[in-house]
Parts: sequence; C-alpha cells; structure tokens
Amino acid sequence: VSRGLEALKDLPCETLCGHHTPLLANTGLETELHHAIERGAEGVGLYRTEVSFLLHDRFPSESEQVAIYRRQLEAFKGRPVTMRTLDIGGDKGLPYFPIEEDNPFLGWRGIRVTLDHPEIFLAQVRAMIRASVGLNNMRILLPMISSVRELDESLALIHRAHKELADEGVVCRMPPVGVMIEVPAAVYQAGILAKKVDFLSVGSNDLTQYLLAVDRNNARVSSVYNAYHPAVLQALASVAQAAAAAGKPVSICGEMAGDPATAVLLVAMGYNVLSMSSSSLPRVKSVLRSMRKDQADALWAGVQGMECASEVESYVDSALQKMG
Ligand code: PEP
Ligand code: MG
Repeated sequence: VSRGLEALKDLPCETLCGHHTPLLANTGLETELHHAIERGAEGVGLYRTEVSFLLHDRFPSESEQVAIYRRQLEAFKGRPVTMRTLDIGGDKGLPYFPIEEDNPFLGWRGIRVTLDHPEIFLAQVRAMIRASVGLNNMRILLPMISSVRELDESLALIHRAHKELADEGVVCRMPPVGVMIEVPAAVYQAGILAKKVDFLSVGSNDLTQYLLAVDRNNARVSSVYNAYHPAVLQALASVAQAAAAAGKPVSICGEMAGDPATAVLLVAMGYNVLSMSSSSLPRVKSVLRSMRKDQADALWAGVQGMECASEVESYVDSALQKMG
C-alpha cells in the first residue's frame, strides 16, 4: 500500500458531503484477517467458511468449527462478521465429499447441498452460534437461495439450532440472518425474501454468471462476462430498490464492490455496505472520499438507458478521470 492509501486506514468511507458507506472485507484464510484489519475493514461482509473445510481432510467437527469461527469473531470484536454457510459444489469441491456432475454450476451447490444434509448445516450453525457467545457480532448468510422454500427451510434449521443450544444452556441472541442474491430468480423475489430476513447481500460474481449464462471461470467466454452489462446493472438496482422498500439493508460482496468505478454506481443505486477483498479497500475508499454523493447519482443517471457494457464502462471511466 502506498503511503497515501495507508493514511486512509482509520478514516471513514464517506463522500465529501458525508454519505457513509461502510467497507467490509471478504475473508477465507485466517491469514487474511490481519490484512483486512490493516486495511481498515469495518467488519467482515463475507467469510467463506468453505475455505477452512478445504484445508481439512474430513468434515471439521462442530467443536473444531467453533474454534475456527471464534478466531474470526474475536479478530473483529465489536464489528460485524458475516459467516456464510457452506458453499461447496460449482467450482469448489471438497476432496472428501466429491460431487461429479456435468453442469456443476447448475447442480448441487450451496444451500442445495446443506439442505439435503441438514446434519452438516446444523453442526455448522451450532458452531457459529457457540463461537459468538459473549461477542454477539456474528451474522449468518445463506448462499445460492433460489426459492422461498429454501429460505424457509434454512430459517427453520437455524431456529432449531438456536433452540437446541438454549436448551443445553448456551445462551446467545438469535443472530441476524441474510440471503445472498446471486441467482436471477432471487432478484425477482428479492422483496419477498427481504421481508423474511434481516439483510440481503448480492453475490455479483455468480449473479453476473447466471444472468449472462457465462461460466465465470471459462477464459474462452471471458469477454462475455461483464459486470457493466446494462442487464446486470438493472438487476442490481432492482435488488437495492426491493431491499429499501422492505426496509432492509443491502450489501454486495462480489468483485464489483472492489472496483472503484462500479462501487460508485452501487452507492448511487442505494447499496448500504460494500464488501470486497482487502486489497481493494483503500482504493475504493479513496475514490468515494473524493466525490459527492450527487456526483455518484449523476453518474448512475447518465448510465441508465445505455445499450452496451463498453459504452457504460468508458462513460464511467472518463467521468471518474475528470473528477481526478
Ligand atoms: C459471489 O458469487 O459474488 C460471491 C461473493 O460468492 P463466491 O464468489 O464465493 O461465489
Ligand atoms: Mg457466489
């Protein structure tokens, strides 16, 4: 980090006119915690729990998970830590739980796996709740929700885990629960989903992949994968509107949050929180601190109605360059 960016660490992420957008970190490996704190993250917006499962040669026990999660929560004591339940399948396979499929991104992944294996889900949620005793900064995030039924089943299991623990004498508040919006169906049902949970968090990596029907990891079609696509931006804006109408906060935890140009558009759309890899934090903060909210709004207004991604991208880039 250059000296100038380092100096930003303890300054709030607010525009010149005082519009505050907390910047949170995406974490996975434990070594990233230190990095996130150093860059001034105000919390963790996405802790990818599957990363620690990948480092084991079998499913970690509930107690082992408690210890792992406790380290995340303690590192960010007093600040929110959003723990996503296991998101395996797709491109993330556990060697000790192989999933062989022709279309893994459209197959058994995320919440679909853990709802079919409630024992895995319950052990994980119990471990998260046990880890948060006395700290109370833990939030649960559900990946790959594509229907209200999946959310209802997940919520029932979370309540069951919380009740079981209370009966065992483990006293802890019910953690806030959020849904990832990363499947197109969830965009259309964002309002209904938002009413049932405490917050929404958009996974723009998968949402872009599924909206544009383009594998996020396939180099041959990488030029088709584009977060500036007007359809992607429209979907993101409609999720922000649905969350606001339901009175619930909305964050974004895909790569788009860490790109200053798209971050500015997201703030204008109404995203309350941006979560990104720690290395992107200083740059996004520096850009947001150098402009007014009405400038971000004007940029977003200017983009609406544009027909293609390249037009949007060059418009935003040149406007940001003019602002310096
Ligand atoms: C996403 O899909 O945007 C996301 C944040 O989750 P992951 O990259 O882990 O799928
Ligand atoms: Mg995802």
